[in-house]
Formats: sequence, C-alpha cells, structure tokens
Amino acid sequence: MKVVDELDLRGKRVFVRVDFNVPLEDDGHGGQRITDDARIRASLPTIRLASERGAKVIVAAHLGRPKGKPDPRQSLAPAATRLAALLGRPVTLAPDCVGPEVEAAVAHMAPGDVLLLENLRFHAEEEKNDPAFARGLAKLADAWVNDAFGAAHRAHASTAGMAPLVAERASGLLMRDEVKHLGRLLAGAERPFVAILGGSKVSDKIGVVEQLLSRVDALLVGGAMAYTFLVAKGVPVGGSRVESDKVDLARRTLAAAEARGVRVLLPVDHVAARKPEAGAETTICGPGIADGWLGVDIGPATREAYATEIAAARTVLWNGPMGIFEIPAYAEGTLAVARALAGASRATTVVGGGDSVAAIGVAGVADRITHVSTGGGASLEFLEGKTLPGIAALEA
Ligand code: ADP
Ligand code: MG
Repeated sequence: MKVVDELDLRGKRVFVRVDFNVPLEDDGHGGQRITDDARIRASLPTIRLASERGAKVIVAAHLGRPKGKPDPRQSLAPAATRLAALLGRPVTLAPDCVGPEVEAAVAHMAPGDVLLLENLRFHAEEEKNDPAFARGLAKLADAWVNDAFGAAHRAHASTAGMAPLVAERASGLLMRDEVKHLGRLLAGAERPFVAILGGSKVSDKIGVVEQLLSRVDALLVGGAMAYTFLVAKGVPVGGSRVESDKVDLARRTLAAAEARGVRVLLPVDHVAARKPEAGAETTICGPGIADGWLGVDIGPATREAYATEIAAARTVLWNGPMGIFEIPAYAEGTLAVARALAGASRATTVVGGGDSVAAIGVAGVADRITHVSTGGGASLEFLEGKTLPGIAALEA
C-alpha cells in the first residue's frame, strides 16, 4: 500500500477522500453548526501535506443521509468553513461534486489550493458505485488518496469505484495509521493481549469475538452484551437486556474460548436499576440480578478486576461501553475502563467504536491512548478480518 507522502504531488490534481461525517445541530439562525470536529482534525495532516507539497487538493466527503438528492441541511458548507479555520488557508466549496462547473473550478486551481467538493451523497450514484459517476469523479484528478477510514467498509464510487480510473493511488496518513494500529491487533500484538468488549449487542460484536479468540489472552465482557453471556452460564439477570436468540451462540463462544485457553471475564457485580432511565432507584448486586431490576453498569468489584487485567496487559483493545454511559449515574464502569487504559503506560492501547470513543472523550484521556480509531463500523469489520473495499482499492 503506497502512502500519500511517497507520491510526487507537485502540480498534480489530487483527490483526497476524507471522512467529514461530523455531527451537526441547528445554529438557531437557519444554518447548521458542527458539534464535534474530530474527524475534520483527523484528516488535517494529509490535506496539509498535499497542499504544502504543491498539489491541487480536491477534498471529497459525504455527510449524513441525504437520500441521493441535494439537501441544504446536509451541505458540507460548515465543514468548508471549519477546514479553512483549522488549515489557516482559504477553502473553496464547489457547488457540486461532479459536472462542468466543478471541472471548471478544478481547472482554475493553483498548486497548494484546497477545494472541497459538495456532499457526494447528493448523488444516489455514489452509494450505488455507479461507473459513470465514478468516471465523473476520476476525471477531476491525477491521483486518488483515500484517507476515509470510517467509510472504508463501503464500496462506493468515491471510496473504491474511482480508484482504478485515476493514474495513481495512495493511502492518506490517517488511513495508514488506522491500518497500522488495527492491523497489529490481528498479527503480532504483544502479549498479554486483553480485549474488552461491551456495548449493546452480542450480534454486533460476535464477529470480532470470534476473530480475537485465536489472538487474545483474556476477553473482558461488559455492557448489555454481558447479560446474554451470563444467561448462557445460568446466572439470573433480572430484567436486563438479553438477546435470547444469541444465548446458544454465547454458550458456544464460551466453550470455544475455554478450548483455546482464553480467559473470559464476565461481570461479578452490577449497578442495577428499576428502569434504564436517569433518576431510577439503583442497587449494587452480584453475581446475579434479581427480578424487578436490570443491569445498567458493571459494579465496583468488576471495575477493579478489569482494571487489574488491563494494568498487566501489553496490548489492550477496547470496543463498547460497560453500561448505559450516556446517563452519568451509569457511566462509572465505562469511565473506569477508560482510565485504566489511560494508566496502562506500558501497553499499546487501541479504542474503536463510536460510543467507546465518545466515552474516551468524556473521560478526557484521548491523548493517553495509543490509537483512537475514527472508524466505527469500519474498525469492527477490519477486526473481524474482513477485506475492506476502500483498503483493497489501494492495494490494487
Ligand atoms: P460502540 O459504538 O462503542 O461500538 P455500541 O454501539 O455497541 O458501542 O454500544 C453502545 C450502546 O450500548 C450505548 O448506547 C449504551 O447505552 C448501550 N448499553 C451499554 N450497556 C447497556 C446496558 N447494560 N443496557 C442497555 N444498553 C446498554
Ligand atoms: Mg455505537
């Protein structure tokens, strides 16, 4: 896989696919405001490098789900403004992402200029990976640089289809880092290797669990996922969220782990509440949960046991919160895991998953984590060992 800094960029038209799919809110004046610009910041090194090396930088991204037609509420205009502020240089927003007007805008670019194309998903052809649309994008550029790790699990026109239609291909710097850090978890991770998995569903994470069973020394389970595993072991979980059709799968997974000598740690105590809501009556209980209560977080003894495992590890992967962390009263278990990762200074620590990354932010420890992945679905699919189309397109 070639990296952008290996290309001769001077004077070239370089199409940089980024992940600018940032959360927006109404600004109260009929416009939209970015509430978290982490994804824009994450793409700065690649855009800056291309611009400084004299490329004509054509930045392209999707935002939201505009259903294949223009929608001013999902315009990339706020992203253009934010990108310009962060780069400290002007960024022009093109009126569209393909067509004569865009081609004219590109023809007028000088080396170093940055042009942001309008939302790729204003065209249904983007997600359909339509060949004519891919040709329209490819026509704009001499090189295709993919820095959109968060969209790499999609075979869309801009993330895969256009790649063979341009003269050169390279990964961006963010994409390079994602592949390096996540790739190491699948091959050559330092042991002990501990994975902490949580979140809402066994079904979302089972592919990762299966892939990791042959690599990790211990698997720590939390979140709603844990109750399905506890049911598989015959532990009562009260009214906790359980995927009843996944209990068998959980049982088989526990057996597979045992056969491989992987220790699986399940919560030994819980924060249980009357309702999954803020302000509900709570209790600490364990190992089981009585009827009339439901598990909303891992309990203090579990937090300590998990922190001890994390402290002894050389590699730690964390995906999925330990409880309903959006409610501050049920966030302690998740924050304890975040702090334990931050404190594991001898370990390589990797965090993936939208909600887990948000929790790292809430805990304020992002700068003490080796790698915080920008890909939610993409990191999961990568860790399942799948070939991501946006990465395969770089290797072709
Ligand atoms: P990530 O985005 O990090 O991959 P998930 O999307 O899988 O994580 O899971 C996050 C969601 O899981 C959160 O909305 C959280 O409230 C929910 N969750 C965690 N623990 C519980 C629980 N005990 N009961 C219900 N929902 C839970
Ligand atoms: Mg999530």
